[in-house]
Amino acid sequence: MESINHLFSQLKAPRKVVITMHQKPDGDAMGSTLGLYHFLVQFGHTVTVISPTNWAGFLNWMPGCQEVVDYERNVSSANKLIEEAEWIFCLDFNTLNRTKNMEAILLSSGAERILIDHHQQPQTEVFAYGVSDTTKSSTAEMVFDFIVNAGYEDKINKNIAECIYTGVMTDTGSFRFPSTTANVHRLIATLKEKGLEHGLVHEAIYDNFSENRLRFIGNVLLNRMEVFYEYNSALIAIPAADLVKYDIKTGDTEGLVNYPLSIEGIKLAAIVIDRGEERKCSFRSKGAVDVNTFARKYFNGGGHFNAAGGQSKDSLEQVVLAFKTALSENKELLSTYKF
Ligand code: 5GP
Ligand code: MN
Repeated sequence: MESINHLFSQLKAPRKVVITMHQKPDGDAMGSTLGLYHFLVQFGHTVTVISPTNWAGFLNWMPGCQEVVDYERNVSSANKLIEEAEWIFCLDFNTLNRTKNMEAILLSSGAERILIDHHQQPQTEVFAYGVSDTTKSSTAEMVFDFIVNAGYEDKINKNIAECIYTGVMTDTGSFRFPSTTANVHRLIATLKEKGLEHGLVHEAIYDNFSENRLRFIGNVLLNRMEVFYEYNSALIAIPAADLVKYDIKTGDTEGLVNYPLSIEGIKLAAIVIDRGEERKCSFRSKGAVDVNTFARKYFNGGGHFNAAGGQSKDSLEQVVLAFKTALSENKELLSTYKF
């Protein structure tokens, strides 16, 4: 993988471009891809953003989101776009299997694949150009850096500002996580100067849910959460029937995993959701508890040091048991952890 800086001098020659992201995109995946989209179109490139799957309704307000192609609903036209593309930007993921059913066509396309991402252990051999930096708060921050380093800060408009702000805000837990560097605050200042109305973005993302979803959270916290004080850990396990009962949609469960971390002393929080075809896991931690390694070792996943995910084909009950076993295998780290 060559440095992404090699692209700077090529930006002015219009190309066919596809921008893609990980499946079930979150605020950073959607924010970074749409931010890059609104930048590249200014050069006359033909740009299409493709998501491997559907996404949460609370992202729909984002400028350009209505034009994003849902791969699962448009397989043949999306395949054609990917086959004909000259550049394929891969944002907010670093192994092609994170694009689910798109992996094969991404690999067989003759396009140059370009990586912009902040996760650990990138699959560098499949990218022609790229930047991978695990110290970055978000891929959206990296898109901002890409635009500025290429010498085009003047092209950052209100649309780009809203998209980048969404990515940085959601991936930093609203500027709370340790990844929130001075550079992050400086870039937000720049976005404000470009006309960003940050309060409106926050409201659009966090105050746009259904009544059902709030009642679902009540049920989950009351009935589906188990706390393991001896391991400073907690687990939320959600059966498929709950998702049906409360009419839970893509994105409605995002952020739930953080709730147990608000209990005094809890340093590792996990959630496992029975999604029918698989059990999807999320892990969050504080301080020295490395959930990237935890997710890789026990749940076929990965991510960041303090935020990771995984999945399993086993039953919900088996995954819960596997989690408890994993806790006991890490007893020393978890129970002797000093706050
Ligand atoms: P979330 O728990 O919000 O789904 O994901 C937390 C972090 O872990 C994100 O950065 C996400 O990209 C990553 N992640 C989530 N699930 C998986 C997975 O199954 N495999 C890998 N490698 N990373 C994941
Ligand atoms: Mn991200």
